[in-house]
Amino acid sequence: MPSRSASAIRSTAVPDVLIVGGGAIGMTTALALRARGLRCTMVERGTLGAESSWAGGGILAPLRPWSYPTRVWDLVQRSRALYGALQQRLQALSGVDIELLHCGAWLLDRADFGAARDWHAQQQLPCADADCEGAPALVMPWVQQVRNPRLIRALRGALAAEGISLFEQLSVTALRRDGGRVTGVSTDQGDMQARHTVVAAGAWSSQFGEAVSGRVQPMRGQMLRLEIAPRQRPEAGIWLLPEAYVIVRDDGTTLLGSTVEDVGYDKSVTLEARERLLRIAGGYLPWTREARVLDHWSGLRPGSADGEPIIGADPSLRGLWWNTGHFRTGLAMAPASAEELAEAIAAAD
Ligand SMILES: Cc1cc2nc3c(=O)[nH]c(=O)nc-3n(C[C@H](O)[C@H](O)[C@H](O)COP(=O)(O)OP(=O)(O)OC[C@H]3O[C@@H](n4cnc5c(N)ncnc54)[C@H](O)[C@@H]3O)c2cc1C
Repeated sequence: MPSRSASAIRSTAVPDVLIVGGGAIGMTTALALRARGLRCTMVERGTLGAESSWAGGGILAPLRPWSYPTRVWDLVQRSRALYGALQQRLQALSGVDIELLHCGAWLLDRADFGAARDWHAQQQLPCADADCEGAPALVMPWVQQVRNPRLIRALRGALAAEGISLFEQLSVTALRRDGGRVTGVSTDQGDMQARHTVVAAGAWSSQFGEAVSGRVQPMRGQMLRLEIAPRQRPEAGIWLLPEAYVIVRDDGTTLLGSTVEDVGYDKSVTLEARERLLRIAGGYLPWTREARVLDHWSGLRPGSADGEPIIGADPSLRGLWWNTGHFRTGLAMAPASAEELAEAIAAAD
């Protein structure tokens, strides 16, 4: 989608909702609003979905759900129930398969076995003792993965098919206010009006208001893509190790992640992280020891102070809404976060 000129901005009709940020959170929010009959415009500073949402692994669960706030698990659970229908809707609208796989996960960090067993019993979710490469493991068969670069492509196609106005390479510089009400945004190419404005700007959300200022911070995550010899490669799955994980896609694409680093907006990658991740994986999964590193990238997660996302109306400014701070589980929480916010906006409209 080419960027639009200042004249295109001026000629665009005032939307019901303007969304700042075109990551997985902003895009799923736009679809959920559209499903409620609201007209949306999306403004993305770069390319849709090219930041944290592309960089992530696509595990549709917290890495250790027993150590997360109840609010996070609640959003993950509700999203698990929504992903199948979302997959079908995206496939129908965009023709892209998001590769939602019910592959299960192997927990190999023994320190977590006790808490994991108790939590599974409490949640009435299945988990079983198993052997993985000669070491004890707990298998969690309910864990799913999605191929997030495909999810992004599918969302982009679906938004276009739904007639949502997409502006890329357009940076929102400030919110526009009229007294206690937000009336739209200023961009680097002109002002845009809207009845409601949603900030879904990921790790960059804090610049837009006191409600999240200081509560949402960038948290760098580094990820490797590995080449595993076909004769060694396991079937699709997820392996949870102490301070690392490995994801194998259906076609054998293998990811090894990830770091959690408080280094501001620095997206560089480090040799130290690469060696550390490879060392951890090699200690548990012999098939990663000979792996060639094909790619190494990083993304900036929208880290939140208490681990919970911020979803809903701004506490003081009317017309301003937030959907941000999803930290390590934004893909896992996206569908329910989008539904929750869309429901609130539709009710207030
Ligand atoms: C290495 C790594 C691994 C991860 N693994 C997983 C996982 O396995 N499972 C999981 O659920 N989550 C995972 N995550 C977390 C997940 O990726 C994020 O929580 C999620 O992508 C956040 O989505 P978002 O839309 O809020 O942010 P983003 O995808 O970062 O989107 C925000 C968008 O806002 C735009 N923007 C910012 N400022 C402006 C502005 N001024 N004007 C216009 N646009 C603006 C940005 O350009 C960006 O495109 C991982 C993240 C990383 C980095």
